[in-house]
Amino acid sequence: MRVAIVGAGIAGGSLAWFLRERLGERGRIDVYEASERVGGRLRAVSLGGTQFEAGGKHIHERNRCIGSFVDRLGLDRQSVGHGDAGRIGVWDGDRFAVTTSPSKPVTLFRLLSRYGLSPRRARNRTRAVADRFDDIYDHPGTAFATPTALLGSVGLADLQSQSGHEYLTDSGVDPQFVNELIAGTTRTIYGQDPALNAFACLTALTGMGGDTYTLGLSNATLCDRLFTAAEATVRTETPVERVTLGPDGARLTASTGSRDYDAVCLATPAESAGIELSGVTQPAGYGDREISELSVAYVAGRLDPEAFGEQSPEDVPGVVVTSADSTAGFVHLRDVSERAGRPAYKLTTQGGATPELLDSLFATIDETAEVSWRAFPRLDPESPTPPFRLADGLYYVNAMESIVSTMETQAIAARSVANLVVRDR
Ligand SMILES: Cc1cc2nc3c(=O)[nH]c(=O)nc-3n(C[C@H](O)[C@H](O)[C@H](O)COP(=O)(O)OP(=O)(O)OC[C@H]3O[C@@H](n4cnc5c(N)ncnc54)[C@H](O)[C@@H]3O)c2cc1C
Repeated sequence: MRVAIVGAGIAGGSLAWFLRERLGERGRIDVYEASERVGGRLRAVSLGGTQFEAGGKHIHERNRCIGSFVDRLGLDRQSVGHGDAGRIGVWDGDRFAVTTSPSKPVTLFRLLSRYGLSPRRARNRTRAVADRFDDIYDHPGTAFATPTALLGSVGLADLQSQSGHEYLTDSGVDPQFVNELIAGTTRTIYGQDPALNAFACLTALTGMGGDTYTLGLSNATLCDRLFTAAEATVRTETPVERVTLGPDGARLTASTGSRDYDAVCLATPAESAGIELSGVTQPAGYGDREISELSVAYVAGRLDPEAFGEQSPEDVPGVVVTSADSTAGFVHLRDVSERAGRPAYKLTTQGGATPELLDSLFATIDETAEVSWRAFPRLDPESPTPPFRLADGLYYVNAMESIVSTMETQAIAARSVANLVVRDR
């Protein structure tokens, strides 16, 4: 069995692992990666010698696929405290709609008087959905045909077709809470308001609910280790240009030449891959999804408190999230001074940390490190969702990203694709 994986991110790494588990010694796994590095959207940047994750960062303790990789590969977990940057403020571009307090009772009082029981209702809905999603781990051998079937197997397919806003307000959550604190979360994680699909919205809320960790080294290390454990041959700086399907399998053409495979698995969003498919009818959602852009900058410098109508930097909440329709030029600002050992911030934007934006937020700047991402497909309700199996011998892990984009859900999608490849053999 000769299998090619296109893309050396977490989807490709997980797929290599699951294929090796299922094929044993019998298979050859070749990985093609366009860039010079493994990890894709998992990438750390250095600010004054300290490493910070600029892409996928948080792994939730509930994420059993990634958790089992981490444990079986003997990698270190570093717990991420969501409260370690201090208070949270919801910024609408003009003023803080609400801020939490270092005192828990004061925070509770503020939230209760502004939103009533909505925070508790939202938390209960989020937990109920996360509990239900856990049932997916009871289907390790199922070859789901589509991401919708995967979600349907745990009774959550209807969350794909309605917005988070609609789902939560129908559950009795105050729209003001949705447009402020929940929007703060979905914008931080996906750069989108709660109009995104309800499954992605509740996944974002689970991620922000605490109990997350990151890896001691960069998260990208996990991909490297997965490929090594799977005894896969990884070719970096080798972009795949074309896949041609014929009666005897798939011919993959990369910058270095062509090779024949029994199965080719695409583990990258088609919208950014520039791969020509021939002999295949492309389904809706393949290559035509709108992609959200996000930039993550780490800035060593002193905040200008006046940008937030405050007197001193200490008065600005350590975590500033933005409300729905906020006029702020950024989506998220977080104090990372403790880890940096000097005043420093993580700044997430949709248009990049332009000199004007930096000027408006910072009094002084010593250093910046920024990565701009074509981050993920827009997670709108009813986005066209392609199948995991595009044709005989051709598979697509990132079909999953029509619904949600996380390391864990990419790993779960990869497991399903491995099952399809083995079943179709
Ligand atoms: C800013 C940001 C923050 C995030 N935060 C979190 C988080 O906290 N927790 C979480 O779980 N998830 C998070 N995510 C989402 C998570 O990072 C992604 O879901 C996941 O990394 C996607 O992995 P992937 O392997 O599917 O794709 P990618 O990581 O994009 O890998 C695809 C690879 O394919 C390669 N490629 C592309 N075209 C070709 C070609 N023609 N030939 C060969 N190779 C090609 C690319 O170079 C790339 O390396 C975040 C994402 C972003 C952008």
